[in-house]
Amino acid sequence: MSLRGTRRRPNATGSPKANPLVQYQTTLRDAIAFEGAGLHTGAAARVRVLPAPAGHGLRFRVDDAVEFPARADYVVETVRATVVGVGEHRVSTVEHLLSALLGSGVDNALLAVDGPEIPVADGSAKVFCDAIEAVGLTTLHEARRRWVPTETHLFRDGDKLLIVAPASSFRVRMIVDYPAPIGAQYVEAEITPDTYRREIAPNRTFGFLHEVEALIKRGLAQGGTLDNAVVFGTDGPVAPLRSPNEPARHKMLDLIGDFALLGAYPQCEVIAVKSGHKLHCTAVRELVAASQHDEAAAGRRPMQSQ
Ligand SMILES: [Zn+2]
Repeated sequence: MSLRGTRRRPNATGSPKANPLVQYQTTLRDAIAFEGAGLHTGAAARVRVLPAPAGHGLRFRVDDAVEFPARADYVVETVRATVVGVGEHRVSTVEHLLSALLGSGVDNALLAVDGPEIPVADGSAKVFCDAIEAVGLTTLHEARRRWVPTETHLFRDGDKLLIVAPASSFRVRMIVDYPAPIGAQYVEAEITPDTYRREIAPNRTFGFLHEVEALIKRGLAQGGTLDNAVVFGTDGPVAPLRSPNEPARHKMLDLIGDFALLGAYPQCEVIAVKSGHKLHCTAVRELVAASQHDEAAAGRRPMQSQ
């Protein structure tokens, strides 16, 4: 696998004249901010997403104390949510915001977080996606850094499976199989800002009524309410769904957030069967490590400096 797209434009002044063959890096036109409770801790949380220059990538600054790239080797936990951090400075449930940034095509941003968790909003990525769309993106004068596999990779964990294959764009196929009333669902999409905003971003976190009660007993889902999650009882969802296969679409949303941890824009097809944060993050960590090894072996700079 290799990293493509580090070529600088020969004339990098003035407004970029679009070369249709090259995708350029982007950042936000202005800062955006979100405040609210986290889903799992219920604690007040605040995150500001700030514009950043080309080559910066997506990076976290936590408690004004530590800064690190949004990359799989900074994942410290994957139980029900993706948690990143350094030492005691940790941020939980980063996947929905990262998903909105990658899905909207934002290459560079600084995520300044106060609090232990990203606010849950409505349990989907819609609030983040709408805010990104409202401020808009600026095109930068450097080609997009893409993560491009040169062969097919397969990852397994019990009955969970993840296949990452070469492709000309970022495509995801997601297969889930839950107990009734959710059952088996399938969704596939080519991830572009347009398809992401319309078909993926609005789909909410979900759970079963009995499971939610158990989570609350374990001290999780403290911020969970019927306003930020779809809850399924024995007969079906207790409130209307936003799409008939909302659980599969939310799993795709989560996967896109976890694949933002590649540290470059994925140009690959991902086929996911019953996968979750643990398998996604294991796969992405191994893929990042292999890329860094390949880059080092080829005598090039590693994929992304820290
Ligand atoms: Zn999620």
